[in-house]
Amino acid sequence: MLPWFASLALALFSAPAAHGTCITDKAAAAADKIFDYIIVGAGLGGLTVGNKLSGKGFSVLIVEAGPDLSWNPEVFNAEDRVFQSATCNWQYPVLANNGSKLPSTIDSGACIGGSTSINGMVWYRPTKAEVDRLETLGNPGWNWDSISPHMKAIERNHVPDETQIAQGAGVDPAVHGYSGAVNTSFPTPMRIPKAVALYKQALPFAFSGLTVGSDLSNRTSVVSASTSWTIWYDSATGKNRRSSAADALLWSPDQQRDSLTVLANHTVDRILFSKDMTATGVVFGSKSVTKGKMSRVYAKKGVVLSAGTFGSAPILERSGIGNAVALKAAGVKQFLNLPGVGANLNDQPGTSTSALIAEAFRNDTSIVDGRNLFGPQISLINIDEIWGASASIYSNELISPSALRSRAQALVEAGAAANIDGAEAILNTTISLILQSRLPVAELLAESYPSVISAIFWPLMPLSRGHVHINSPDAFAPPAIMPRFLTDEFDQAVAIAVARRTRDLFNAPPFKNVVADAYLDPPISRNGTDEEYLAWLSKTTSGASHWIGTTAMMPKKLGGVVDERLRVYGTKNLRVVDAGILPFQITSHTMSMLYAVASRAASLILADA
Ligand SMILES: Cc1cc2nc3c(=O)[nH]c(=O)nc-3n(C[C@H](O)[C@H](O)[C@H](O)COP(=O)(O)OP(=O)(O)OC[C@H]3O[C@@H](n4cnc5c(N)ncnc54)[C@H](O)[C@@H]3O)c2cc1C
Repeated sequence: MLPWFASLALALFSAPAAHGTCITDKAAAAADKIFDYIIVGAGLGGLTVGNKLSGKGFSVLIVEAGPDLSWNPEVFNAEDRVFQSATCNWQYPVLANNGSKLPSTIDSGACIGGSTSINGMVWYRPTKAEVDRLETLGNPGWNWDSISPHMKAIERNHVPDETQIAQGAGVDPAVHGYSGAVNTSFPTPMRIPKAVALYKQALPFAFSGLTVGSDLSNRTSVVSASTSWTIWYDSATGKNRRSSAADALLWSPDQQRDSLTVLANHTVDRILFSKDMTATGVVFGSKSVTKGKMSRVYAKKGVVLSAGTFGSAPILERSGIGNAVALKAAGVKQFLNLPGVGANLNDQPGTSTSALIAEAFRNDTSIVDGRNLFGPQISLINIDEIWGASASIYSNELISPSALRSRAQALVEAGAAANIDGAEAILNTTISLILQSRLPVAELLAESYPSVISAIFWPLMPLSRGHVHINSPDAFAPPAIMPRFLTDEFDQAVAIAVARRTRDLFNAPPFKNVVADAYLDPPISRNGTDEEYLAWLSKTTSGASHWIGTTAMMPKKLGGVVDERLRVYGTKNLRVVDAGILPFQITSHTMSMLYAVASRAASLILADA
């Protein structure tokens, strides 16, 4: 039952005039009104769901904490963003394993478009094996056959032209969509083509058995290839434009919706529930616009949390849903015991090694440039390509039941898993993808900036886990994030081995004339010890920005937070649709998978409407 003033508001409220989507930062557009659906967060998940629900005529409000930066070239041009810029960035504080604050921060999108407004724009697909594992983990209906059509439907691929192909672009027409809203293509002009050619020649010297192919979205046959970006070439400005979720699904003239309102610059504090735990609305406010004064808005059909891996779990906690210990510590009364909220935090721990380029090549822009676009050649490497015959040493350890139990135990003790069975189920999923499916355990990006040529890399399917929790009931206070990178010895072994192999890469014959010093950074010599590499890794590692897991979709008894229809356990009409629902890491960058997840989520919501 809605409160009387909300029912009155429903009677008084009329949809905005037929001029398309309303984007505003005026609280009055939402305060005390009623919409069919309220979505929290205008990032990848929120905009995808909002676009689909409003497209069916439902009235939808999206509340976004950050501003609308559609005017800002740092956001709409693919190459105008400064690395780690504060624009549209939460720059979340991050904690070391001992709880002390680290000097670094975590990048995460803080404006309309969410992280797609600031991300690296790399687009390629995950494998069938890992997507099918969602179902095996206890999520009926979540498999490659149900997900891949959504991946195809969201994409509008622009095939590379002859010049781009000559400079390293490759495309397999079967693994792209061509009529969706999110543009994917290669940049005009292409980046560092000679360096890419050298990488391709050198890779087999460092990773024996690695196949070099043409299109990374084809995950059946190739493990090193060129990748597409979520960009499109604007011939009017001569610039590559970022095809963010906002560019594709909100600002675009052909995506206008009279039934969609986006309230920018307002933070959602918590969810409102009726006695039977039906989500009836949210409490929101703004430090900058309303000086922290909080308002309420009501939903007739449901509330969807799409505030991202670091945003949705804290909203649940502020609403009294979560782990008893974390809620008590933050001074919030518990209404629903869901110990998985905020646990299982995961990202891929990334860093890079660099070689010094010989002076003669430093002005050659086909080898080295200062362009702000991610490395164009990506390699995905499995345990055989890293360790050869010695891979069995690692396989034997990974399949040992006692090792699995002690891994799971360690995660529970660290507060990074809700219970042993859940931790084992998640770890086992990743371990079987590593061992049985022989999926890649590391990603390596070819990169070069003035004077150095670099290999950016990260363990791709980490077993380490961390957590995120609120510190206080204050909606404007940042959460406490402890990633616990490289706390699992297997992740350490992968990172150390790949770091060493990248030195072999730069010492390989194809780089002979181009590289002046293969050991520039880190300054650890050919005979460097594991301890030296680990010390360097623990100082330099930060997330690849593919954060997942804190509102995991899996059975409740395993510590799951949402069920297979993305409903928060114990509630009615409250869903989570964002990166947080992925229980384990995938071996592609997250966007392709998450657009598909959000699109399928919208279908489920519509089916239940
Ligand atoms: C720097 C960076 C580089 C990346 N590079 C790539 C890449 O190259 N390729 C790739 O595939 N993926 C990449 N990613 C990852 C990808 O962008 C994300 O996985 C994806 O955007 C996550 O979608 P989401 O809906 O979960 O969250 P987001 O897209 O981040 O959206 C969450 C939204 O919720 C808002 N919000 C948070 N809290 C609240 C609140 N309390 N009230 C209201 N609003 C709130 C946020 O401001 C944000 O707009 C990168 C991410 C980053 C940050």
